[in-house]
Amino acid sequence: MVHFLWTSKEKNNKQQKVNNTKHMTTGKNYIGNTLSAKGTTTYKTFNPKTNSENETVFTEATSEEIEEAVHLASEAFKTYRTISGTKKAAFLNTIADEILVLDDELIQTYMSESGLPEGRAKGERGRTIGQLQTFAKLVEEGSWVEARIDPAQPDRTPNPRVDLRKMSVPIGPIVVFGASNFPLAFSTAGGDTASALASGCPVIVKSHPMHAGTGELVASAIIKAAEKTGMPNGVFSNLNSSGIEVGQALVKHPKIKGVGFTGSIRGGRALFDLAAKRKEPIPVFAEMGSINPVVLLPKALETKAASWAKTYANSITLGTGQFCTNPGLILGIKSEGFTNFVNTLSEEIVKIQPQCMLHPNIHKAYNKNKTEAQQQTHVETVATIEKPETENFAQQAVVTVDGKTFLENNTLHEEVFGPFSLIVQCENATELAEIIANLEGQLTGTIISEENEVSDHPNIINALSNRVGRIIFNGVPTGVEVAPAMLHGGPYPASTDSRFTAVGRDAIKRWVRPFSYQDWPNELLPNELKNENPLNILRLVNNQETKDAL
Ligand code: NAP
Repeated sequence: MVHFLWTSKEKNNKQQKVNNTKHMTTGKNYIGNTLSAKGTTTYKTFNPKTNSENETVFTEATSEEIEEAVHLASEAFKTYRTISGTKKAAFLNTIADEILVLDDELIQTYMSESGLPEGRAKGERGRTIGQLQTFAKLVEEGSWVEARIDPAQPDRTPNPRVDLRKMSVPIGPIVVFGASNFPLAFSTAGGDTASALASGCPVIVKSHPMHAGTGELVASAIIKAAEKTGMPNGVFSNLNSSGIEVGQALVKHPKIKGVGFTGSIRGGRALFDLAAKRKEPIPVFAEMGSINPVVLLPKALETKAASWAKTYANSITLGTGQFCTNPGLILGIKSEGFTNFVNTLSEEIVKIQPQCMLHPNIHKAYNKNKTEAQQQTHVETVATIEKPETENFAQQAVVTVDGKTFLENNTLHEEVFGPFSLIVQCENATELAEIIANLEGQLTGTIISEENEVSDHPNIINALSNRVGRIIFNGVPTGVEVAPAMLHGGPYPASTDSRFTAVGRDAIKRWVRPFSYQDWPNELLPNELKNENPLNILRLVNNQETKDAL
């Protein structure tokens, strides 16, 4: 977890003068539709490329503002929970449109707060918009509520059957925490926010302090869309904070009913524990760090060691290694092919130009964690580069260790967030399977194999399948497609609940609960469950999937 250096206490009126007027960012919070800055704690974001602070002064939300945002969200929920799919779709599509209207200002702000290049900024914006539109389509069509109807059987003997109808309903106001490494797609209007708004839950975003300006711009797009499409005030709020207190207060608030988190294991676990200790515990869907094991099977390395090594040099350094799906652990059995792989990877990775990390603190944490791994007994550094002259640029590194040491040393199992990978050289397939079985839960696992080789290693495949949320054949884990069959999650600590995904349309299931009506009059039922099926959705009626009316 990153703590910020630039928090200062200043008077509000002074802060506003510092703002650069050519920017739309005000540094204020959105408490529902209203911009507000009642606090005295302020901070700035940081441009890691220029190694200097950005201009806008952000004001952290006060307890009073937190209370107001939660109150508005709770009031908004009373109407938003039953608003039609068509209206929610219009809201989500308008958010997407308004994000596009922000145009270059959004892209420039994103780049200045992350050090990430323009192409990545535009790509991530496209993904964010695509996610919003996907959820819009889903709720407009309507079948996602999983309507089940078991009509009454008054003549059934010995006992008549009651009429039962079930569907998914939203759980209430949700707090969303985004990650530093996806200022758009896993942040203010990212997958958590889009899916929660689609489900009928109001959202309060705890803005990530590293990209508070990007967050405010996106929040302004959401607020504009809410106003244009007639959504209740409080359906969305965006709160600034430079430390953990605002997030903690939100998670503890009795009117908050769920949490979406993307970030580190430490942060996710702290919020999960906080939510569990509440008088009314609430679900925390935390998607956290992962080391994403890659298993190189022997036959694949006999002929393709060099080409896989080149592929992995690129995957390890992609986005300066700042992806939750970064391949941080490479496992194989000692052989000539494996040695070739290690040698070629070492040669290739040092040819790649070092890149800027997201923030000095992330860079500092990378250096610390990398050095800690490098200093463990029996760990050998096989590739590293000269320290770049430019501040905040990462030195990629690859280290190697034997299987026995890895099994015994848990420090080596921890994520080093950045362009780093640990190669474990196992004695045999039994040791390899044992190592995999002893890994913590992971987002992904990858098998590099010849077509017919997988069937020779059922223990390895079984062990890996049991530890991960997504298994990849002959590919790289980096790159998470937004698609219905995507699973982005996994056994703890990859996520706090392996039954759900944070990416793809099923992400909406995190924000709903099943709800049954018994013998409820037809005219009082929601449209999804009425006899006539006015929404023409797919329903399970008497155990048969159908769109027919009853
Ligand atoms: P982070 O330091 O955990 O921060 C994430 C957010 O949570 C921030 O807003 C942070 O606020 C807040 N937070 C952290 N600890 C908290 C606590 N104890 N109480 C209340 N709030 C807390 O993570 P990050 O640096 O932003 O992101 C990098 C990490 O995210 C990496 O580990 C990466 O692997 C992971 N990640 C996972 C996924 C996924 O889908 N699984 C995707 C992307 C990234 P403050 O900054 O104000 O403290």
